[in-house]
Amino acid sequence: MIPAARPDLGPAEEDAVLRVIRSGMIAQGPEVEAFEAEFSQGAVSGLHCVAVNSGTSALHLILLSLGIGPGDEVVVPSFTFAATANAVALTGATPVFADIEPDTYCLSPASVEEVVTDRTRAVMPVHLYGHPAAMVQLTELCHRRGLYLIEDAAQAHLAALKDRLVGTWGDAAAFSFYPTKNMTAGEGGMIVTTRPEVFARARMLRNQGQERRYHNEVVGLNNRMTDIHAAIGRVQLSALQDRTLKRQRNAEFLTKHLSNVLTPSVRIGATHVFHQYTIRVRGLDRDRFSEQLAGAGVGSGVYYPKPVHTLPAFGHTQALPVTESAAREVLSLPVYPSLTQEDLEVIVASVNKLAAAGA
Ligand SMILES: *Cc1c(COP(=O)(O)O)cnc(C)c1O
Repeated sequence: MIPAARPDLGPAEEDAVLRVIRSGMIAQGPEVEAFEAEFSQGAVSGLHCVAVNSGTSALHLILLSLGIGPGDEVVVPSFTFAATANAVALTGATPVFADIEPDTYCLSPASVEEVVTDRTRAVMPVHLYGHPAAMVQLTELCHRRGLYLIEDAAQAHLAALKDRLVGTWGDAAAFSFYPTKNMTAGEGGMIVTTRPEVFARARMLRNQGQERRYHNEVVGLNNRMTDIHAAIGRVQLSALQDRTLKRQRNAEFLTKHLSNVLTPSVRIGATHVFHQYTIRVRGLDRDRFSEQLAGAGVGSGVYYPKPVHTLPAFGHTQALPVTESAAREVLSLPVYPSLTQEDLEVIVASVNKLAAAGA
């Protein structure tokens, strides 16, 4: 079976973990500080970085640091992982759902425009599947309306638009280091920001509201990353460019050889980092297609089968037609760096055979 996802972890990560354990100090410390500095230089053009225990915490602390809370609205896509909307709701603010673009699956600026009210404080696009959202239009919209722009870059390490890295467009951005993301720390997240006040506040909020011990200035949480996780993250970061290139090459091969399915489109000027390689199986039963693919030894995933606004936690009945049709038709194929040429050929042959037969 070719699994849908496979993290790359090896002897370098093992050595890093042992180094930290043997040091006798495993909580947030020098490894976290080094990881922040290296991620800043290597992934986000030198912006301020604050490491935390998950991508969800990163989003949550960004919102809290910007002073977003009860009575405020934040515009988010519904075609995303629930964490995007959860982070907003956890602050007491209201997530307001907008539709996506049909080709990139990312937040539609025109749809955002329709749902902005005088209570809107921020817009939070997701660089879904590793494809950059429409940042030029969203930046213009946020400037014109006086809104914060927060990037959910959990799936998009090293993705870019017009040679500008994702995570460097908005007021702040959140990355995730969950095991199946383009790089991992076991679990973990990174807050990236251009704003010194967000940087200072997020550092306090992750650690009980203190920068110095027993000088608690605000009410905070424990969202710290451990040095063990940071040490894994540092090793993974050093391989990120190489692995991103492999994802892109795998995607190129799939796009060249797949037939009778809709392959991913890439916006002009965009660098897609293929966290997921997502096809669309139009006119066929997607779930049946996925089952038959598994029968042929090819794992696949559906991101996401249920639009977030329809989940019981949110329970909206609002119509988001582009989101709803994507949720019915998308299917993500394996694209991770450790696929072999033989794996790629098996994936292509299996998908083409099923698609031609009208599975
Ligand atoms: C993974 C993910 C998150 C949350 O990251 P965690 O590290 O799992 O908390 C948020 N948004 C999106 C789009 C994600 O894919």
